[in-house]
Amino acid sequence: MQYTTTRGTDTSVDFRTALLSGLAADGGLYVPASLPQFSAQEIAGWSWLPFDELAWRVIAPFVGDTLDEPSLRALVSDSYRGFRHRAIAPLQQIGHNEWVLQLFHGPTRSSKDFAAQLQARLIRHFLGRECERAVLVGASNGDTAVAAIDALGHCPTARLLALYPLAGTPADRSAVMRSADSDGVRCVAVDGSFDDCQSLASRLLRAWPCPELIPISFNSTNWIGVLAQIVFYFHAALQLGGGIRPVGFSIPAASFAEIYAGFIAQKMGLPINQIIVSTNRNDALHRFIHCNRYSRGSASRTLSPAMDFSLFSNLERFVWELYERDGEATRTLMEHFDDCGELSIGNRQWLQARMLFDSYAVDDGLIRDEIVTLFRETGSAVDPHTATGAYAGRLHRRNIGAPIVTLGQFAPEKSAALLAELGAWHGAVPSPAGQEACGALLARDDLAGLHEVLAQMRAGR
Ligand SMILES: *Cc1c(COP(=O)(O)O)cnc(C)c1O
Repeated sequence: MQYTTTRGTDTSVDFRTALLSGLAADGGLYVPASLPQFSAQEIAGWSWLPFDELAWRVIAPFVGDTLDEPSLRALVSDSYRGFRHRAIAPLQQIGHNEWVLQLFHGPTRSSKDFAAQLQARLIRHFLGRECERAVLVGASNGDTAVAAIDALGHCPTARLLALYPLAGTPADRSAVMRSADSDGVRCVAVDGSFDDCQSLASRLLRAWPCPELIPISFNSTNWIGVLAQIVFYFHAALQLGGGIRPVGFSIPAASFAEIYAGFIAQKMGLPINQIIVSTNRNDALHRFIHCNRYSRGSASRTLSPAMDFSLFSNLERFVWELYERDGEATRTLMEHFDDCGELSIGNRQWLQARMLFDSYAVDDGLIRDEIVTLFRETGSAVDPHTATGAYAGRLHRRNIGAPIVTLGQFAPEKSAALLAELGAWHGAVPSPAGQEACGALLARDDLAGLHEVLAQMRAGR
């Protein structure tokens, strides 16, 4: 399997190179040059497989010959070892043919553990002693960085540089980041929004200043972040439909990566009859799908903070697909977006996007109602992001005969205080972590300051 980039035409690298990267040299994102196709019969034959066995079958064609089969099998299996549920990603029924796929049983209780745990093991496998040259880099509202910090235990000499918004990051997650701070792990608060952190991280990666260190994105701008999530769809569709009956998905848009992963699973032959993109009041994706107008905007704080932003990096991969893998067309659109913060695609491409996705924006009032309703009707607490997806899923499912699955990306206890306030929580409520001042605080566009942090990291070991 070869990888090309969304902004070029002649790049061709293998899985190892795509994995061990920040952005591609031309500023684009790596994408597989072709997609593996599975027949209905082949997929149906996997319906009895446990999660890890299914995962390596889905992942293997993307890895190609950069890793032999027994090693890949072992690495994939091992990456789920720290999960606290024997099904890895169990399905919970919340209504008639309505389900939540619980993706929060990993070590840090968010769906980001799936990619982070696998990525760390692959880095160690590919780099061995050279791991000390690796720097995991990225922006995070908390969950991705916390997942990456935990996973670092599996490639302990690698370093990590995370940027997080001082105001938008939940206190318990910034507390984890502060306590991990060391010479090799720097979590830097930015006086700005999550979008500002993302922009700063891409500027750093576009002109990486230290050639002796290998920058590797820890979020799903790296292909592994998408790949790990493709498995979710195969797992849920096989559990509920045996690979024969179509299944629909409602996806809380905590990035575009999980949505794009669903689209890829569908292209690989999985019978998915519907994908619903659910956003909160920060509805950039909903407006893109509904009105073909995507714009960088200022995000407001909502009850579902992991969805409070407007820069969705993986949209670039989707645009590239809509333009029939035309790197030049994608480059023109994305450079225009980088300059002006606006993106509209051609009419034909937009109609195709509308055929592929439904979308809905759910405001805080509806999120509260949904949490309370689900608790009353099922006795279970769901987190506010999952509630967003469950509400949009119930409202917009097209076929009452097909199961509709909401991706549950975050554990409910992460939102225990809110759930308790709504009367939807039986457990203990942890006392809020203090929001103390942290080591470094960068201005929102302080690239020079970020270079300084990197220089200190380099000197520190
Ligand atoms: C996960 C992810 C986000 C959100 O990051 P959090 O740390 O969960 O806030 C944003 N963009 C991309 C590309 C991601 O993979």
